[in-house]
Amino acid sequence: MSHVLPSPLVVDQLVKSYDGKPAVAGLSFALQRGECYGLLGPNGAGKTTTLRCCLGLTAPDSGTITLLGEPVPARAREARARVGIVPQFDNLDPDFTLAENFLVYGRYFGLSDATIRARIPELLEFAGLAGKGDMGIRTLSGGMKRRLTLARALVNDPDLLVLDEPTTGLDPQARHLIWDRLKKLLNAGKTILLTTHFMDEAERLCDRLAIVDGGKLVVEGAPRALIAQHIEPHVVELYGEGAAEWAHAEGGQFSQRIEFSGETAFCYVAEAAPLVAHLMDRPALKTLHRPATLEDVFLKLTGRELRD
Ligand code: ATP
Repeated sequence: MSHVLPSPLVVDQLVKSYDGKPAVAGLSFALQRGECYGLLGPNGAGKTTTLRCCLGLTAPDSGTITLLGEPVPARAREARARVGIVPQFDNLDPDFTLAENFLVYGRYFGLSDATIRARIPELLEFAGLAGKGDMGIRTLSGGMKRRLTLARALVNDPDLLVLDEPTTGLDPQARHLIWDRLKKLLNAGKTILLTTHFMDEAERLCDRLAIVDGGKLVVEGAPRALIAQHIEPHVVELYGEGAAEWAHAEGGQFSQRIEFSGETAFCYVAEAAPLVAHLMDRPALKTLHRPATLEDVFLKLTGRELRD
């Protein structure tokens, strides 16, 4: 008989409003064990509010949340003891050393100092900060601080990790290092829930993701499946002088769909060869031919206009 493992997090019809305005408006989703699940959405879509409700840090207006088998907010504290949390902004204590930060954080979970001290070398190693336990937080770069915050979230050996924009503000090298660490955690069987504004990050890490907008779920699925379902396979971007004019006048002959953003025309095509061949005769137009990505899905479903 097959045995279905219980979901680490089930969110059903979650609603949360601020000053009468819905931040989360009836959101439902469930994580599978061992997967990386992404919450994507424009600024103000309700991602952080959703995470906070899931962790019992913000009280929902209605809906039910079950986190690691516990009802939230009623037994959020018990559930949180088995969750690792990486907040959007680092909240390391700048007056303490790296090792002291682990100790303070671990005590919050009721762990003994001996238990925490025994784990510190391994956690520092994971953060790429081996042997630096006695250093002060102020001496760390932004990337080091993020890695330390991630390592600190592992102090209680959590089953589920909740990460709010884990790589915002990091340079490409630092982002790759964080991705590498997150993959290690997934390989070790952890479940991850993350929010991100980086579509490449979501495409790379997430087994499944939800795009939310206005506090509602717009679409859910595996990144590749969402791309295949919503976007033509090829995109030819045209930019620079004359690009928009050409796209308006002639683009429709070659493209299933054209979107404009600033001075760029995005031609979505099932078959790119005829368009690429045609553009060879127009060297003044700058072009970029690429496969469709999750960003194309995101922009199609949530629009291109600014949200703040
Ligand atoms: P971002 O990508 O910018 O982090 P988000 O998707 O995480 O956005 P939230 O931070 O959850 O979105 O915000 C959703 C909405 O709720 C926004 O309109 C925000 O202004 C509002 N909001 C969030 N927290 C509060 C609060 N404590 N008081 C009042 N309004 C709030």
